[in-house]
Amino acid sequence: MEIRVLGAHSLETRDTRLASLLIDGVLALDAGSLSSSLTLTEQKGLRAILLTHRHFDHIRDLLTLGLATEHSGSVVVYSIEDTVNKLRLHYLNGELYPDFTQRPEPNRPKFHLKVVVPFEDMSLLGYTVVAVPVPHGAPAVGYQIASSSGRKLFYAGDTGQGLGTVWKKVSPDLIVVEVTFSNALKDVALRTGHMTPSILVQELQAFQATHHYYPRVIAIHMTPYLEKDIRRELAEVSQATGIEIMPAYEGLKLTI
Ligand SMILES: [Zn+2]
Ligand SMILES: [Zn+2]
Repeated sequence: MEIRVLGAHSLETRDTRLASLLIDGVLALDAGSLSSSLTLTEQKGLRAILLTHRHFDHIRDLLTLGLATEHSGSVVVYSIEDTVNKLRLHYLNGELYPDFTQRPEPNRPKFHLKVVVPFEDMSLLGYTVVAVPVPHGAPAVGYQIASSSGRKLFYAGDTGQGLGTVWKKVSPDLIVVEVTFSNALKDVALRTGHMTPSILVQELQAFQATHHYYPRVIAIHMTPYLEKDIRRELAEVSQATGIEIMPAYEGLKLTI
């Protein structure tokens, strides 16, 4: 499984992109930067998108992707019921831009919206996918994606403290997780359902207590103006605990 980090930040600037990962060129996780990061040919290669939650930074490029690839085959967009309902109500409704659940033709639309049921295994493009609810400011899930060879990625999306029950449901080789804030902003992180390096380490220690190993960990969704502190603090906790935690960057490729 080849994983490409398209967006590794919580804010978009010239040099930073919103949350999106691409797996083997066909499966996307979140849609924050699918059109801003991919060539037209790469956009046309997408077959399915898994959305973690409704927040704009995770759905933003659906409309621009839709228009750019409208005549290039359909894409199935999966998420929990809350996200799908909010997309239909506010985003894919034809008010500000075309409704790609009806275009180019109502009987063969660009996007098929599908609701995922948490904790139920789903077969998708040869992967086994399961959605697991995570604590955040809006209803949200993370996804475990297992390849046919059994290698597993867990993409947590946006999440705060309290992943103990999540760890009982997943057993990944690699975790891609958000670290939005630096340690000085722990109160804000706890209030808004996000992570700091110190919160992340506690969650990973809970993972270790459940599974008796540490997976490799990649941090994304960093806030650009806090990134220096976040990177330094992640390096410190990584050194102190021996857990391999690496901050991502746009274009990072990993194979598991
Ligand atoms: Zn969010
Ligand atoms: Zn976000």
